[in-house]
Amino acid sequence: TDDPESEPVKTICPYCGVGCGIQVKQGDEPGDVQFMPWGDAPVNEGRICIKGGAATEVVNHKDRLTEPLIKEDGEFREASWEEAYELIVDELERIRDEYSADALGFYGCSKAMNEENYLLQKLARRLGTNNVDNCTRMCHASTVWALRTSLGAGAMTNSMADLREEADLFWIQGANPGEQHPIANSQYFRQAVLDGATVIQVDPHANKTTRSFDIDDTDRHQHLQLKPGTDIPLLNVVIKTILEKHDEDPEAGWIDEEFIEARTEGFEHLKETLEDFDKEAAAEECGLSLEEIELAAEKYAEADNAAIFTGMGMSQHACGVDNVQNEINLALLTGNVGRAGTGVNPLRGQNNVQGTCDVGAMPNVLPGYQLVDDDEARESVEEVWGFEVPDEPGLTNVELSHEFGDSVKGLYVMGENPVMSEPDANRVAERIQELEFVVVQDIFPTETSQYADVILPATTWAERGGTVTNTDRRVQLMRGVEKVHENTKHDLEILTEIGTRLFDSGFDFDGPEAVFEELREVCPIYHGMTYELLGEEGLHWPCYEPGDEGDPFLYEDEFDTENGLGRIIGVTHQPPKETPDDEYPLILTTARLEEHYNTGTMSRRSPTLNRQTPENFVDVHPNDAERYGIEDGQEIVLKSRRGEITVEAQVTEDITEGSVWTTPHFAASSANKLTNDVLDERAKIPEYKAAAAEIEVG
Ligand code: SF4
Repeated sequence: TDDPESEPVKTICPYCGVGCGIQVKQGDEPGDVQFMPWGDAPVNEGRICIKGGAATEVVNHKDRLTEPLIKEDGEFREASWEEAYELIVDELERIRDEYSADALGFYGCSKAMNEENYLLQKLARRLGTNNVDNCTRMCHASTVWALRTSLGAGAMTNSMADLREEADLFWIQGANPGEQHPIANSQYFRQAVLDGATVIQVDPHANKTTRSFDIDDTDRHQHLQLKPGTDIPLLNVVIKTILEKHDEDPEAGWIDEEFIEARTEGFEHLKETLEDFDKEAAAEECGLSLEEIELAAEKYAEADNAAIFTGMGMSQHACGVDNVQNEINLALLTGNVGRAGTGVNPLRGQNNVQGTCDVGAMPNVLPGYQLVDDDEARESVEEVWGFEVPDEPGLTNVELSHEFGDSVKGLYVMGENPVMSEPDANRVAERIQELEFVVVQDIFPTETSQYADVILPATTWAERGGTVTNTDRRVQLMRGVEKVHENTKHDLEILTEIGTRLFDSGFDFDGPEAVFEELREVCPIYHGMTYELLGEEGLHWPCYEPGDEGDPFLYEDEFDTENGLGRIIGVTHQPPKETPDDEYPLILTTARLEEHYNTGTMSRRSPTLNRQTPENFVDVHPNDAERYGIEDGQEIVLKSRRGEITVEAQVTEDITEGSVWTTPHFAASSANKLTNDVLDERAKIPEYKAAAAEIEVG
């Protein structure tokens, strides 16, 4: 049913942060939006994973929101845009005037574009609050904190292309690119391994990444299947082993003394931290043999170029900042930063989670990671915006939900689903009902929108244009075909309209390019980009002036810290905040599946994706299964102090004894009914990756 007249448009896959190029094409039936490969796309060269190939399936799904809805007497009724806008503007003003601007909270969206998130955070700040955040708080806030503090920028130090070409060793800790970044894994990392690179994977769960590197030469693939929450002791064994080797033979180059001397600070602190460190006891704590960790340490230190990949297995802990800091310590100690094929590289989960942070949809930073409490930076942004920005950081996502009904009275949610995505989800569902006013702007009804006062029907990624920033800092243009439903609106149109109704100036933009032009003015790392210069290839940030090529890898000459030095900071083991006890003797850890995406609002509606795994399950080690009397495939109740879910048990050695593993994708049995909402003190990221749990067998 192809319409030969309709030209495909080049855009970016809406799912993970790899940033694969795809094409979409208008079919000849109204609303028929078709997928086409983009053969010479810059990141993926036409390759695509199951999610990317199925991305257009949800564009014209029967569940799409098509009209604004207003809740009346507990029921939603259709409303005009005019009525919805009037109500939103009145309520935002009422709450600000009756309480304060800080009684409002805004959730940005990592599935939305840079321009849209830029406008949302500007709207929050124009109203007078820094209470704006996005899902990076739940995935890599701790990584961003550690990288920004110790190296300079909260992003991948390198790019996938230079890692593919130059890395001799990949150290993948708490990340699962085989499922979460399939094209990066197959096209970049696995290819490099087939060409001779080594991979060390550190993860409590064996997964598709483990299996993808299961190649003949086992010397080049080691999986350290540690207990959840023991990443710091494991890395301390690695670091101490390298230091000991250096003491034994200082000329052998186990550490990079020249690099440490010229480009870092804190090395002595690291040595002091590990002076009395007991490697044998630490290995036991990790559930591993000392020899296997020492072997991995030797391989890392011996590699000419060693690259670390870090994921949510590291970041989603109450000690998330310190987890990532220890990866930075390892890289700095061995001089593995500032060159192609090296560095510390967070793999970002959503197609624009990097950009949502870049444009300032966070409570502590303005566009370009300029701190709200840095007077000079804030004033330079205020000069362009023409209004004052509060100089204290606002509340983060989970802090906001802790305050629902107390200090926070109103909430604006663009494309997120906190009732399912936040830890201790039962608590969030209760607390959101304490709010006086909730707006949800989305493409589908969600677990959160049922608690909204107003639901605004937005367009999908395939129907609009703008920019997104992928995991290796490449800013790329998205383009859309015609709207599928006439009365839906682009996120940008909605925010422009609300901003213009609230304020005389500052929100009158006639499209995404006009917004991007203002974003460039206030965001130094994007200043050198224009839509024209982005073209089809995109540009890596930092890109300070038009004509800059952008940096595929960072810190060649110096770090972007105050004194230009990379910070080494010794850290010590901090067990998870909830550890097993008699009542809850297991450790629950969580992760995502290749075929599903976060809270599943899109992937559960995609026939191709949902067919792969239509229901949740929990991995249980055979020894634990025997102890509980569980058969493979049996339905069990998995409980924590915060709730319980009924799921099918999968008996497998993929998970270590004493731990269980499940996913957050399915509404009725989401892992987040069980997870712990305790936060990392600095980055405020919750500890999704370790909670005490128990199994009940019916
Ligand atoms: Fe989309 Fe990520 Fe798959 Fe690429 S790897 S097609 S960006 S989901």
